Amino acid sequence: MSMRFKWRRAAIMACLCAGIAGCSGGSNTTYFTTRGLKAPQAQCTVDPRTVAVAEPIRDIRERSGCQVENAYRVSSIGGISFSQPAIMNCGMIGPLDTWFNDTVQPAAQRAFGESVVAVNVAASYACRPRNNKRGAKMSEHGFGNAIDIASFTLESGRKVEVEQGYFSWSEKAFIKEVRKGACEDFNTVLGPGDAHHNDHIHVDRANRSRKLC
Ligand SMILES: [Zn+2]
Repeated sequence: MSMRFKWRRAAIMACLCAGIAGCSGGSNTTYFTTRGLKAPQAQCTVDPRTVAVAEPIRDIRERSGCQVENAYRVSSIGGISFSQPAIMNCGMIGPLDTWFNDTVQPAAQRAFGESVVAVNVAASYACRPRNNKRGAKMSEHGFGNAIDIASFTLESGRKVEVEQGYFSWSEKAFIKEVRKGACEDFNTVLGPGDAHHNDHIHVDRANRSRKLC
């Protein structure tokens, strides 16, 4: 093996081992940066079988730095069905269950006198930069550590859109309450009024020193 090849191999190995820590040379490095990002705690905080309809899937590791440890494909949590299966790390399941049970359902009872049975999942795992902005940091979606919810469906079939929710009093109160409550369970909560989040609520468990809600 030539010295040159050895170096090349070492560089590739270092790159793989570094994982998210600023792997340079990949085709996606101009697309987003992983500098300063720390992979989330992906351990299950609850047994997914007890609170969700979820199946473990193979962990995701992209050369660009996107990675989902303890990956699950989730179809429902806490009795709330997802419009499409969501891929996330297992650490997301517990907080979502708590948010749904402790905040979303009580808020729905108060605002509409009925329960939420489904949510429209606009995005879960996605290997992309924040706000789809080229050159920005990798989104927490790249860790399977975030979910975007565009609407909540009630028992009666009524759909409360996050965006239109701001036009009716009860819907506005509901969206405001679920968004505020999410801050108990997540580190980042974004929604209408925040750039790029007018039509959905984004929640994630990013490693940050101060919550962004
Ligand atoms: Zn999002």
